Amino acid sequence: MAAEVLAGSGAKVDVFDAMPSAGRKFLLAGKGGLNLTHSEPLESFVARYAEQRASVASWLESFGPCELRTWAKGLGVDTFVGSSGRVFPVDMKAAPLLRAWLHRLREAGVRFHMRHRWIGWGDIDVDVLRFQTPRGDVQVRAQAVVLALGGGSWSRLGSDGSWIPLLRARGVVVAPLKPSNCGFDVAAWSEHFRSRHAGQPVKSAAIAVTTTDGSVFHKRGEFIITDTGVEGSLVYAASARLRDEIATQGSATLHVDLLPARTLQWVADELAHPRGSRSMSTHLKTRLGLHGVKAGLLYELLPKSVLAQPAELAAAITSFDAEAIDPDACVRNAERFSLERFRARLPGEIELALSGERDHERALARRPSRPARRGLARPFR
Ligand SMILES: Cc1cc2nc3c(=O)[nH]c(=O)nc-3n(C[C@H](O)[C@H](O)[C@H](O)COP(=O)(O)OP(=O)(O)OC[C@H]3O[C@@H](n4cnc5c(N)ncnc54)[C@H](O)[C@@H]3O)c2cc1C
Repeated sequence: MAAEVLAGSGAKVDVFDAMPSAGRKFLLAGKGGLNLTHSEPLESFVARYAEQRASVASWLESFGPCELRTWAKGLGVDTFVGSSGRVFPVDMKAAPLLRAWLHRLREAGVRFHMRHRWIGWGDIDVDVLRFQTPRGDVQVRAQAVVLALGGGSWSRLGSDGSWIPLLRARGVVVAPLKPSNCGFDVAAWSEHFRSRHAGQPVKSAAIAVTTTDGSVFHKRGEFIITDTGVEGSLVYAASARLRDEIATQGSATLHVDLLPARTLQWVADELAHPRGSRSMSTHLKTRLGLHGVKAGLLYELLPKSVLAQPAELAAAITSFDAEAIDPDACVRNAERFSLERFRARLPGEIELALSGERDHERALARRPSRPARRGLARPFR
């Protein structure tokens, strides 16, 4: 983007990249459908950038989601809004967009130098950049430099974070890299649960997370059970909060409402129907439509005593007041989604809670004093 704007203003632009070809991570993003942007109102969109929202908002005001769609169209790529509000290329691919983009850049005079790894500045002259290439080290003098070196994940695609020590050595303060969309481990799933439900989506559900500063985040959508924990769009939406909570507290709690469209009263009334000789699994399925992975979570997370008490069970199933969720913020996640996305894992755990507490503000504010493993992943059967 910077190359395009600079070349458009008449600057002579050279792009250097360590990899043999450009845009490798961009291409990988295309495998999951290439979510280009979001169609929600700008105010909600910038809120996703949390503490960076002020600076990001100023960029998005001049080049926001609409401008991005127009830009893609200018490269011959039409876009559409998915059912979640996210925006994708019509063919869900990154390659045609990248190809057209690189072509247009070359036409504008931008020169690409691949297999050029930037390794620092000249010893004396800071206008000189040093590159490692297959033909030995190369030095390049530039009047202005834009560093766009990526983060630290998927290093085999080029972004390995090796620029951080180079900048720090020059006295530049660089914040530590943190994963921004990632799955989380929960205290080990039982083998019974893992073998039956890993890979399955939990939908529709609502989650809530409270952070130590007292703020509460909640959202409706779906998430996926993995071998060791949870991931998926709903978890990614909360991942920055969970990540920071784990960093400061050692663990975080993700409250889950398994029937976000139902009231506690409705669930309690249904459960109160006599079940006669029917098993609890059949009762949950026929009265509440809870079966498969959702019923599995109940057996996995709740003590037997709660399962035997309709009132407690109802409160656990609707573990917080999902009605309080802003409907505009809901993710109705129907379009294609790659499970391989954002697989970064953190060295921390989250607690998955079916707390049975109706008042979500209160439930969420009451944090366990230490990582609460009890009730987690305890095989029920
Ligand atoms: C599986 C997956 C799916 C994704 N899906 C989406 C999605 O649908 N939508 C979305 O918006 N985002 C998605 N992302 C995230 C998106 O790919 C990244 O946010 C984006 O690529 C970041 O762009 P960037 O230019 O900052 O960094 P990068 O794309 O990582 O580019 C950095 C470039 O710098 C080069 N480089 C690094 N160090 C040096 C050096 N020392 N010398 C020379 N060159 C160097 C690298 O080779 C690389 O080409 C996805 C990511 C992954 C991993």
